[in-house]
Amino acid sequence: MSELFIGGRWTAALDERVREIRCPADGTLVGAVAEAGAKDVSAAVAAARDAFDRGPWPTTPAAERGRLLLRVADLLERDKAAYARAESLDTGKRLVESEYDLDDIANCFRYFGELTASGGGGRIVDTGRSDTDSRVVHEPVGVCALITPWNYPLLQTAWKVAPALGAGNTFVLKPSELTPHTAVLLMRTLVEAGLPDGVANLVLGSGPEVGAPLAEDPRVDLVSFTGGLATGRRVMAAAAPTVKRIALELGGKNPNIVFADADFDTAVDHALTAVFLHSGQVCSAGARLLVQDELHDAFVDAVVDGARTIRLGGPFDEEARTGPLISAAHRAKVEAYVAAGVAEGAVLRCGGARPEDPTLAEGFFYLPTVLDECTASMSVVRDESFGPVLTVERFRTEEEAVALANDTVYGLAGAVWTGDVGRAHRVASRLRAGTVWINDFHPYVPQAEWGGMKQSGFGRELGPTGLAEYQETKHVWHNLAPRPQGWFA
Ligand code: NAP
Repeated sequence: MSELFIGGRWTAALDERVREIRCPADGTLVGAVAEAGAKDVSAAVAAARDAFDRGPWPTTPAAERGRLLLRVADLLERDKAAYARAESLDTGKRLVESEYDLDDIANCFRYFGELTASGGGGRIVDTGRSDTDSRVVHEPVGVCALITPWNYPLLQTAWKVAPALGAGNTFVLKPSELTPHTAVLLMRTLVEAGLPDGVANLVLGSGPEVGAPLAEDPRVDLVSFTGGLATGRRVMAAAAPTVKRIALELGGKNPNIVFADADFDTAVDHALTAVFLHSGQVCSAGARLLVQDELHDAFVDAVVDGARTIRLGGPFDEEARTGPLISAAHRAKVEAYVAAGVAEGAVLRCGGARPEDPTLAEGFFYLPTVLDECTASMSVVRDESFGPVLTVERFRTEEEAVALANDTVYGLAGAVWTGDVGRAHRVASRLRAGTVWINDFHPYVPQAEWGGMKQSGFGRELGPTGLAEYQETKHVWHNLAPRPQGWFA
C-alpha cells in the first residue's frame, strides 16, 4: 500500500482509511493508497512550514538547488519504465504516451535545474548615491500547496514541483484521488536525490477532504492549482481570506481554425490529434473546429473518415491509438454533452456511443465523435466536455473566424491553419489565448510559458515566469553612511 509522505516519513492516514485505485481501461486493481483527511493535511502543512522556517532548503545556494533538480531528471530517466507503467495503469493511457510524458517531465526538471543554477543573484539598483547599496533580490514564497489533476498527473506535478523547489520553497502536493501513484514514486526520487526532510510532502485523498483544507490553511503562502473552472473558483475563494498567492491553470475550449488555403492533408491529420489525443482529456484539446465555408464539406468528411479509424484500447495494446476516459462519471458527463448537442440541432457524423467491442466493455471507452453544424450557443460548444468530442462550426471571413474563436469564456490555446503568413500572424495576435499555434497543434517546450487568459486562469507555468511564480521580490536598501536626518528636529 502507498502511504502519505509527511516530514520525511511514510505514514498511514490518521484514521487509517484506504482507497483502491483501479485502471480505467479494464477495472483491474492497480493498488491501494492511504486516504488522508484534514488532520493529515494539517500535519503535512506543519512539516512544510517547519522545513521552510528552519531551513536549510530556502537558503541553500541556488546552484546547489539546481544541481538537485538535475539529479532528479537523471533519476527519472533511469526509472522511466516504472514511472510510465504506473502512469498508464492509473490513467489508462497508452504506455507510449506515458513514455513521451516522462521524457517531457525529465526535461522540465532539467530546464528548471539549469535555470535555477544559472539565475538568481538579483540586481543592483543605481540610486545615484554613493552612500547606499540598493539591490532587488528573489526569495522563495514559502509553503506551497500544489493541487493537480488526473489527465497528465506527473507532468502537471513536475510543472509545479520543479520551479517550486528551484526557487527554494517547501510544498505539500495533493494529486488527484484517481491517479496518485506517480506522485508517490516522485517522493521516493526526491529523497534519493537528497532533498532534506519536510521540504516535499504528499497527501493523498479527495478534493473536498484534502484539497479544500490545504487551500484554506493560513500557514500556506501560495496555492498553485491545475484543474477545472468550477474547482478553480472554489480554490480562489478558499485562498482569499488569508490573501495567499495563487496561480490557476484551468480548462479550455480551444478553437482550431482552418482557412481554405491551408495544407489540406496536414490540417486534417492535426485536427484529429488536436482533439482525439488522450481521448480529448487534454486542457488544450482543439475541441472546436472552425472551418472556412468553401472547405467545410470536404474537410469534415476527411476528419470523420479519420475519426472512424481510430482504434481504442488499453495501455498495453500496441495497436491502440487512444485509451479510455478516466471514470464512469466522466464518461456519463461526456455522453450528456453529446446528447444535449444533438437535441440542440448538431448533426452527429460519427461516434456518439460506447464501442461495441466486448473486450473494451470493462473500461470507460467512448468513440471519437464529430458533431457538425454546431452553433456557438450549444452547451457542447461552450462547455469543456473534456472527452473525444469535436464540434464543427463554419465561418466565411477572417473577421468572423476571430469572433467565433474568441466567443468563449476560456482562453487557454488555439490554432490557425493557413498558407497566408500575414493572415496567420494577424489571427494569432487577435486570439485571446495563452498559446497560439500556427500550422501546428499541441507542441510546447519548457522554455516557453504556458497558461490561460480569461477564465482559463492566471499565472504562468514553465519558462522564466514559471520560476518567478514561486519567488518573492524584495528590495533591500542599505544605508552605508547612516546619520540623523533632522526632519523633526
Ligand atoms: P478538478 O476536478 O478541478 O480537480 C483538480 C484537482 O483539484 C484534483 O486534485 C481534485 O481532487 C482537486 N479538488 C477538487 N475539489 C477541490 C476543492 N474544493 N479544493 C481544492 N482542491 C480540490 O479537475 P480534474 O477533473 O482533475 O482535471 C480536469 C481539468 O483540469 C480540466 O478542466 C482541464 O482542462 C484542467 N487542466 C488544465 C490544465 C492547464 O494547464 N490549464 C492542464 C491539465 C488539466 P480530486 O480529483 O481528488 O477530487
